[in-house]
Amino acid sequence: RRALAQKEFVLHYQPLVNLETGLIIGVEALIRWLHPELGVIMPDRFIHVAEETGLINPIGDWVLCEACRQAQAWCDAGLPPITMAVNVAPVQFRQAGFVEVVAGALATSGLDANCLELELTERTVMHDADINLGTLSALHRMGVDLSLDDFGTGYSSLAYLKRFPVGKLKIDRSFVADLETDPDDWAIASTIVSMGRSLRMTVLAEGVERLALLRKMGCDMAQGYHFSRPTSAEGMADMLRDQPFMNR
Ligand code: C2E
Ligand code: MG
Ligand code: MG
Repeated sequence: RRALAQKEFVLHYQPLVNLETGLIIGVEALIRWLHPELGVIMPDRFIHVAEETGLINPIGDWVLCEACRQAQAWCDAGLPPITMAVNVAPVQFRQAGFVEVVAGALATSGLDANCLELELTERTVMHDADINLGTLSALHRMGVDLSLDDFGTGYSSLAYLKRFPVGKLKIDRSFVADLETDPDDWAIASTIVSMGRSLRMTVLAEGVERLALLRKMGCDMAQGYHFSRPTSAEGMADMLRDQPFMNR
């Protein structure tokens, strides 16, 4: 509660890279808590507490507004257009009026809906799938893109995958980490790539620390320490300007 009131949260950004061109075509906003005594606290340590206490709603609203504001500020500064990806917690997604919260963040910032992507986990969308379909469709009609985060770790119904207006699958980093050495991980990751592509979705590999085999697999996009760790807004602006991963 104090962190919200005292504005102790900050967003860092990690580039989402097109593997064919090397262009940064999006960034993911990742929250950090700058605690006055404890220093930087990572989201894995406080997001679940925020979910349990319901504080995730005001925190999530702040993240949405701040991420949209930053994306529009980069746009106004003449940086190349990008998609801003924002993580949405299950509780936040299911709160009444979530669609209006998103619309409000877009209206206040002036950001085009097409520049916003919401990252949902399988846990979020598959639970009460029929109710969620309404929310997902409303967001989709607004022009907001949807992606499935940590794909492969939850339990997906492939039937819902077909019906949901989801444009991107993010292969969970647990399958990506040992791709080169573990034939089972290779099999799972490449199956997700071919399934996603057949369903006309974009497929992104998370947690890429070594690029090696991903291109060969036909994966569209990647994100990970191989390119960059999540960094401050200033650091991200420099990267957008310099495009350091571009295939020259
Ligand atoms: P996520 O959405 O799957 O985000 C990716 C996480 O993987 C980030 O951790 C990122 O720093 C980390 N990562 C990226 N590349 C690599 C890599 O090459 N190697 C390794 N080992 N890790 C990599 P982070 O920032 O600690 O966030 C953890 C999780 O917290 C996120 O997972 C997301 O579920 C949640 N989270 C972060 N920000 C928010 C937010 O604003 N709202 C909500 N609801 N959840 C958030
Ligand atoms: Mg994410
Ligand atoms: Mg993830």
